[in-house]
Amino acid sequence: MSRFFSDKYKDLEPYTPGEQPREQKYIKLNTNENPYPPLPEVAEAVRKASDKLYLYSDTECVELRKTLAERLNVSPDELLMTNGSDEILNFAFMAFCDKHTPAYFADITYGFYPVFADINQVPYEEIPLKEDLTIDISDYFQKAGTIFIANPNAPTAIALRRSEIEEILKQNLYNVVVVDEAYVDFGAESCVPLIKEYDNLLVTQTFSKSRSMAGARLGMGIGNPELIRDLNAIKYSINPYNVNSLTSAAGVASLKLDEYNMKNCEIIMETRSRSERALRELGFEMTTSQTNFLFARHPDISGEDLYLELKKKGILIRHFSKERIKDYNRITVGTPEQMEKLTAAIKQILEEKA
Ligand code: PMP
Repeated sequence: MSRFFSDKYKDLEPYTPGEQPREQKYIKLNTNENPYPPLPEVAEAVRKASDKLYLYSDTECVELRKTLAERLNVSPDELLMTNGSDEILNFAFMAFCDKHTPAYFADITYGFYPVFADINQVPYEEIPLKEDLTIDISDYFQKAGTIFIANPNAPTAIALRRSEIEEILKQNLYNVVVVDEAYVDFGAESCVPLIKEYDNLLVTQTFSKSRSMAGARLGMGIGNPELIRDLNAIKYSINPYNVNSLTSAAGVASLKLDEYNMKNCEIIMETRSRSERALRELGFEMTTSQTNFLFARHPDISGEDLYLELKKKGILIRHFSKERIKDYNRITVGTPEQMEKLTAAIKQILEEKA
């Protein structure tokens, strides 16, 4: 830290992203990317848009919001596009939390929430998950602040039903409830249909997972027009051009071919079921996943050792050192071939250990 760094950030603990090795020697099952690349039409749209790189991007993402609104069955003024869903989450902390309006989220959830709270100097309370890592919705009733729920949750992979989230909304009519649906397309129920009825609901989604565009950085907020106006006030005070023109073009092209994306989600869900079975046969316990990853532990090997041994064999998975989940690993569901290599490698590691 230099002697110039502002005191207000001296205790900041930045978010640690998963490893992104530049060499291609690893099978990457550590950052929940989609293993299937976007269709060539997406690259073609980006190439075309690159002719206009000398112009600023469209601050309102008009075409993208129009296309997305049709796809999600909402109106364009219920949408705000951002640089990944991380950005809309940060905007929500800025717009809807302050020292009198704390943030509430689970003790085991997306690791960026406490970081966003800290950088915005927002107090927060972590609500413990139950012993089995599920959420007790009554823990979220009548809160005096803004609630953030990843649904499905990460890294636990477990989802609440839409009706359960609706119960939380009803019990918090005076607070904003942010539902982070980064993984919703892998089998969970979206709360988007509830935005018309609940003006306290903000749903966030991303193109990073189900639409194979993690590198493009495209996310969105979906909520009633007043909430979206608040979030736009934040956006226009930071970076009106937060979504670049190449990403916008990629987003439109991707949505026009959304059947391909949704088909890939189905393939990933099938691969997930097969991998679950294979890992259970090897003695793993895991949560019920409605995401593109598995959250698994084995009685005979620690989470950290398994991570390290797999890395030696060229496979990256994600280990978290947090006490409550340190026995687990989060394993992205890759292609069937990648998952077969994973189970073969784990089998070998377990045999060597025995
Ligand atoms: N929410 C959750 C629960 C996530 O796991 C992630 C991915 N790290 C994000 C939001 C943000 O993803 P992105 O910024 O790529 O949209």
